Amino acid sequence: MNSIFLSKEIFSKHKFMIAIILIMLLLSFCFSGIVAYSVSNYNGITIVIDAGHGGRDGGSIGINGTIEKKINLKYALTLKEKLVKSGYRVELTRKTDDGLYSETAKNKKMSDMRARFKIIQNTNPNLVISIHMNSFSSSDAYGAITYYRNGDESSKRCADLIQSSLNTYCSAPAKQGRIGDYYILNCSYYTSILIECGFISNPEEEKLLNTDEYRNKFIDAVYSGILLYFGNSNLYI
Ligand SMILES: [Zn+2]
Repeated sequence: MNSIFLSKEIFSKHKFMIAIILIMLLLSFCFSGIVAYSVSNYNGITIVIDAGHGGRDGGSIGINGTIEKKINLKYALTLKEKLVKSGYRVELTRKTDDGLYSETAKNKKMSDMRARFKIIQNTNPNLVISIHMNSFSSSDAYGAITYYRNGDESSKRCADLIQSSLNTYCSAPAKQGRIGDYYILNCSYYTSILIECGFISNPEEEKLLNTDEYRNKFIDAVYSGILLYFGNSNLYI
């Protein structure tokens, strides 16, 4: 008799546990973004940071040898650190020097860009920021330029705010964000901007961009623009 009661009790305990697990699974599906990211200071905003190029694709080469993919990653990591400290959830498209393409892909650039798109899509972010360095045939060109996709008001507003902040803190020549026809901006409907941080074809700016002091100042300016963007949005309502 005792063993029958005992097994009944174990059975009902199991049922209870299964019910709890099912409820938890259901909740995690409903609030996957929140449950999957349980950092105590999470402010509810998710940002994808995309360091341009990687692997075989080094991007532009500076007048004194700066390799764009490497410096892009440095800027992306500095921005990530700043945002995470402030409670943002950040996803990077690439975390290492490697590209995201499949080694067997015929068109590695397209394979790489599609992998970035998948990360963006899976992350479901409030904002996508792609980081690049500029290059031009004339070494006189200088300054940061922020791009957004044509016709997207939210991306334009974000690009304008970041550009304005860069103009104030880093003396960039562009007055507003500019329309850019880039895959990373066009591949999704998320608010997306691309920052060309400066010209590595300009020897003075290349040198500046490589210093820790300027990189931190630059990222602070980008961060100020992000704060203004989310401060003015209806995200919290
Ligand atoms: Zn680039």
